[in-house]
Order: sequence, then structure tokens, then C-alpha cells
Amino acid sequence: MRRKLAAGNWKMNGERSTLGMLEALARAHSGGAVDIMICPPFTLIDAAAALSDAALITIGGQDCHSESAGAHTGDISADMLRAAGAGAVILGHSERRADHGETSDDVRAKARAAHEAGLIAIICVGESLAEREAQNTLDIIGGQLSSSVPDTATGENTVIAYEPCWAIGTGLTPTTDQIGEVHDFIRTRIERRFGAGVGRSVRLLYGGSVKGANAAEIFAVSNVDGALVGGASLSVDDFSPIISAL
Ligand code: 13P
Repeated sequence: MRRKLAAGNWKMNGERSTLGMLEALARAHSGGAVDIMICPPFTLIDAAAALSDAALITIGGQDCHSESAGAHTGDISADMLRAAGAGAVILGHSERRADHGETSDDVRAKARAAHEAGLIAIICVGESLAEREAQNTLDIIGGQLSSSVPDTATGENTVIAYEPCWAIGTGLTPTTDQIGEVHDFIRTRIERRFGAGVGRSVRLLYGGSVKGANAAEIFAVSNVDGALVGGASLSVDDFSPIISAL
């Protein structure tokens, strides 16, 4: 059985005071029925990790370099994230692919580094609106999957997030049929490549305008094991109902 996962991606938002929500979340969801993850900006990771009970909330980064150290100004390695208290890292988010020209080959190298450092890699894939309108969604997702997911992937160290670019921060979401089609496709591809054991244990998250109001119907879709949440992960009032819907 795959454990459900609610992961919050704070992007370039949040400050020290926002971390107060970690204790409130841990209190509200102390039963440990589902996994909770918060990925704040790099500068808040060590404080977040110190505040949160790792058994209840995993702290994650939002990117890492593919090498463990060296002359890479402005970058952070997976080992550094781990040393700061992170247990996971988001990789290949569409905003990084767009803003920083990250390719799927880059993402695969970063994911391998994350695995070597003992981090869970949350690998993001997703089509643009033009790609969906041209009916290329599954081709795009298939290509991103085969190039972005490294051979080191297991059910424990890898999570795949399907985030259609056009649903991120827009209030738009695909229909549940569209989400199901992509999630079933990802599951089939992963099973075919890694075998049924690993293929069935990798968790698949949906991301893009998830809110308390739409979470339950999205979580009812087959092969949706949770959500990667942006804006609604920045407050307990918004994030907690999503966690409760899992
Ligand atoms: P929103 O939930 O704000 O649409 O962002 C989704 C996302 O990009 C999470 O990584």
C-alpha cells in the first residue's frame, strides 16, 4: 500500500514566522495517517527542520545541484540539504525548467545526486497548454519521465508529481478524467521500466491549483497518491483541509 502524501511547495515565499504553521500542522495531523512534507526556501530549511518532528513532517528543498560540492556559485548540493535537515527535494519543477532552462537530463542527474545523498526526489513532469491543445500530453509526459527519472529510483526514494503547467497558480484544473489518464499512463510507464514491485510503490502526486474545495475529488482519482501544493500550502487554514481530504 502506498502511503498518501501531502507536499507543500512554498516556492519563493514564506518567512521565519510562517514556520509557526509546522507545529499547528503537526498538532492537527498527529495521528500520522498520511505523510506531510513542507518545502520552504533554502534559507528556512534548517529552522524548519529544527522545529518539526521529522516523524510527522518531512522538510524538503526545491532544487539541488547534481554534484556534491565545487565551484557552482549560488547552488546547493543534495548533501547540503541533507545536512540542513531536509529529507526530500523537489526537482524539475516547470518553473525551474522555464526560468533556468533545466532539461530532463539535468533533472535526472540531480535526482541521482539526491538519491546518493539519501533524499527523496520529487520529480515533476507536466505539459504546457499548447502541448495539451495539440493532443501531445502523453508524448510529452512520456519523454519527460524516461529522461528525468534515474535508474536509481525506488518506491522509497522517488515520488513523481504531475503538474500541468497551465494549472499552476491559475485556479484551472484538468478534469478528473484527464488527471486519471495521465496518472494511469505514468504508472504503466514506471511499471514497465522498473518492474511491478517498484512501479507500484512509487507515489504519484497531482499538482496545480489544489485547494480544500477540490482536493477530495482529485484524491478519488485512480493512481493519485496525494498532492504537490503551492499557494494553498502557505497557511494551516488552507493546507490542513487538503491533508484531511487524503
Ligand atoms: P499552486 O498550487 O499554487 O497552483 O502551485 C502548484 C505547484 O506548482 C506546486 O509545485
